[in-house]
Amino acid sequence: MIIGLKDVWKTYSTGKVQFDALKGINLELRRGDFAAVAGPSGSGKTTIMNIIGLIDKPSRGMLTIDGRETGALNRNELTRMRHEVIGFIFQSFNLLPVLSVFENVELPLLIGKKNPAVLSKKQRKERVEGLLEEVGLAEKRSNLPAELSGGQQQRVAVARALVNDPKIVIADEPTANLDSENGSRVLNLMKKVNAESDTTFIFSTHDKTIWEMANRIIFLHDGKIAEEAARA
Ligand code: ADP
Ligand code: MG
Repeated sequence: MIIGLKDVWKTYSTGKVQFDALKGINLELRRGDFAAVAGPSGSGKTTIMNIIGLIDKPSRGMLTIDGRETGALNRNELTRMRHEVIGFIFQSFNLLPVLSVFENVELPLLIGKKNPAVLSKKQRKERVEGLLEEVGLAEKRSNLPAELSGGQQQRVAVARALVNDPKIVIADEPTANLDSENGSRVLNLMKKVNAESDTTFIFSTHDKTIWEMANRIIFLHDGKIAEEAARA
């Protein structure tokens, strides 16, 4: 089990109003899963992705990532774990506009603890250029994000999420801002990496054509798991 949630609740407080965005989620993902979180807008997809991605904390319940109970970790340990274990792909790409494509993908290698010590400049260059080759953007290495199409920007975001060789890649509606052709290109790329490595993928979507690519589908409804489909 690489990801485990046990009776996870998330309660948002806005002034005096409390709102339960997640209501007792139980979920276990195995290494190598390609899992979709499906559900309508407002069902809690982003909330659950942020919690698994260690961007946000559960209000109650237990989250285990890569064999560690995260409730026991302090802020620094959580940050380190996020850098070392997790790659995150956002719906809106979130590339840094003043950095080139190459620099955006290289960035996670410069933050985080283990990497600067381990990878030389030359090794970083090889790693980043290899990934840009893989996502089909080698010739765009010096361009700025604004000079790329949405689909190309999202492929840069995929390369950035993979550069630290994470065990888990989390993608919150990675294709929502893309047309269907670019959307399936991004998904096929994720699927290829998943098939070639042990990397676990969990992505959210409300697009049926995309959730059918998953080996597991978790349907969220009003903050609860409504139904779960697993394929061999
Ligand atoms: P989805 O990604 O499936 O559209 P979200 O996880 O973004 O759903 O939101 C789930 C519910 O939680 C929604 O009703 C939303 O309005 C509410 N919500 C999300 N973030 C906050 C927040 N920071 N404060 C208050 N309510 C929030
Ligand atoms: Mg969302």
